[in-house]
Amino acid sequence: MDCCAHEGPDPGDAKFEIKKLADGVWAAVAAPAYKVNCNTAIIETDDGVVVVDTHSKPSAARVVVERLRQLTTKPVRYVVNTHFHWDHWHGNEVYPQAYPGAEIVTNQITREAMLRKGLKRIQDHVRLSPPEIARLTTAIAAAGSAAERAKLEAELRLAEAYFAEVRALKPALPTIAFEQTMKLYRRDREIHLLHLGRAHTEGDVFVYLPKEKVVITGDAVIGWTPYMGDGYPEDWVGTLDRLAQLDFTHIIMGHGDPAGREWLRTFRGYVHDMVEAVRREAAAGATLDEVKQRVPGALAAAYEKPFSAYPDYRPWRAGLLANIERTYAMVS
Ligand SMILES: [Zn+2]
Repeated sequence: MDCCAHEGPDPGDAKFEIKKLADGVWAAVAAPAYKVNCNTAIIETDDGVVVVDTHSKPSAARVVVERLRQLTTKPVRYVVNTHFHWDHWHGNEVYPQAYPGAEIVTNQITREAMLRKGLKRIQDHVRLSPPEIARLTTAIAAAGSAAERAKLEAELRLAEAYFAEVRALKPALPTIAFEQTMKLYRRDREIHLLHLGRAHTEGDVFVYLPKEKVVITGDAVIGWTPYMGDGYPEDWVGTLDRLAQLDFTHIIMGHGDPAGREWLRTFRGYVHDMVEAVRREAAAGATLDEVKQRVPGALAAAYEKPFSAYPDYRPWRAGLLANIERTYAMVS
């Protein structure tokens, strides 16, 4: 790639691997990055392209646009956001810039969450960047080896580039919001946007391609221990059961490689067993500390290995303890 391929800030370490799932359907799978990027689904139709989710920053979305232009010359008409988390929509602004007339779509609940919580979180990122840069600068001065210094300097460059970008962010909110379901009928494809209940957030959007048997889940299903900080652990299993009723063979998850139905069974089993274990302990009067001591041992045999397949991301145990805390707070 030459120096002038990007109009805009350096994307830093944002990288994606394109994986084909069906004719005209691809997943752009995000590599680990300083600021985590979500996956994007790319769906070509007879008159344009639908993409799902836009990463943690505009420069990362621009990397996907360049890759997308190698796959098809058709314009992007719709961008779907699966939920309000920053690493799924901060790149939105790139699409109406690159493809005038492109609409950004989500459900009403998620659009409201972006307004109520998402916009404030952009300011949190702006506020937290200078102390992060100061911390890295201090660590570089104290680095014990040349290798450690080089690693920290690379991180500092990424932190500075991110700060510049998040400060200049022009949040592109969805231009279309639907209530329960929205369906796009194209000559060659149907695309269903569904709300199946609360899970990772109150408004999770699932994108379903019934003919191709592909479903896009956002972070309601991911490749490692889920983040539940804005989630509804007690509702999550019911939502996944409604998802399981759809006829599909391939899942494009918010994070991690595309998977099949057996991963959904494992993921659902984890959420179910964790919630039930915490509920049982809490009902018997256990304190949070006691629950955090007892439950991990009971779940490790079934779930530690499958939830440790991505060593660069949230470790199983830390994720589990955070999930237990959230669930305990919700059930007691
Ligand atoms: Zn998320």
